[in-house]
Amino acid sequence: MSARILDGKLLAGKLQAEIKEQVEADFSRGFARPLLATILVGDDAASATYVEMKGRACARAGMGSRKIVLPASTSQKELIEVIDGLNEDAQVNGILLQHPIPGHLDERAAFDRIAPGKDVDGVGALNFGLIALGEPAFACCTPAGIMTLLAHYELDLSGLDALVIGRSPILGKPMAMMLLNQNCTVTIAHSRTRSLPDLVSRSDLVVAAVGRPRFVQGSWIKEGAIVIDAGYNAGNVGDCDTGACAERAGWITPVPGGVGPMTIATLLGNTLRAAQNSRK
Ligand code: NAP
Repeated sequence: MSARILDGKLLAGKLQAEIKEQVEADFSRGFARPLLATILVGDDAASATYVEMKGRACARAGMGSRKIVLPASTSQKELIEVIDGLNEDAQVNGILLQHPIPGHLDERAAFDRIAPGKDVDGVGALNFGLIALGEPAFACCTPAGIMTLLAHYELDLSGLDALVIGRSPILGKPMAMMLLNQNCTVTIAHSRTRSLPDLVSRSDLVVAAVGRPRFVQGSWIKEGAIVIDAGYNAGNVGDCDTGACAERAGWITPVPGGVGPMTIATLLGNTLRAAQNSRK
C-alpha cells in the first residue's frame, strides 16, 4: 500500500485565506486588526525562526504582531512582569510564549500567567483542562491543527486504537485528550514505555511527537494505519521514517507540509477568535 497524503499545507492555506477574509471584513467594519504578541526568551536559533514564521503568518493574514525578545538571563519576575503587561494591554489579543524557555525559568508558571482569554497557543492549565473535558476553549495549536486535518479528510476516528508517542504538556497529552474526545481508544507512550514497536503495530492511528528524527520505523506500522508525524527536526526531518511508513500506512502527513502549517493556521484562528471575543 502507498499512503495517501494528509496535505496540511494545502488545508492551512485555505484556512489562512478564510481568516484573512474575516480579518479584512472586521477591519472594514471599524474593528482593529487582531494583534498577537510573541515572547522569545534567550537565543535559541530554532525558536527565533519559529517566532519569525509566526510573525510573517500574522502579516499574511492581515493581523498585527508584536515581538518581545528577552535575554537568556531574564529572571522569572521579569518574565512575569512582561506577561502581566501584555495581559493588561487592551491592544494585545493573543500572547505566545515560545517554548522552550531557558531552564532556570518556570515555564508552567509563565504559561499559566497568560490570561486564559489571550492564551491563543492553548498552553495554560485552564484551557488544557477545558479541552480535556470537551468544553470550548483555546486548544493547544499543534494537536488542534492535527484534529482539524483529520476532520477535513473525513476520517472516521470513532473506535480506532490510537497511540500517541510523547506526553509533553503542549503536544502529546492534549493530543491524547482530543483523540479520546473523538472516541478513540487511546494509549500514550513515552520514554519508559516497553515494546513500543508492538504497540505501534497494533494501532490504527499513530501520532509521533517524540523529537527524535526518523524514530518510528516503517516495519512497525499496521497496514492501512493513519500516521501523523508531529515531529520537526533539523534538516526538515520528522519523527517518522516517512518513506518506509508510507509503504504500509493508509494515510500519512508529510514533513514539511503536514502538521507544521496546521499549527500556524490554528494559532491565527485562535488569535482572530480572541480578538472577536474581546469585542463582546
Ligand atoms: P518533548 O517535550 O521533548 O517531548 C517528547 C516526548 O517524547 C516525551 O514525552 C518523551 O518521554 C517522549 N520520548 C522520548 N524518547 C522516547 C522514546 N525512546 N520512546 C518513546 N517516547 C519517547 O517534545 P515536544 O515539544 O512534545 O515535541 C515533540 C516533537 O514535535 C518534536 O519533534 C518537536 O520539534 C515537534 N513539534 C512540532 C510542532 C509543529 O508545529 N510542527 C510543534 C511542537 C513540537 P518522557 O516524557 O518520558 O521524557
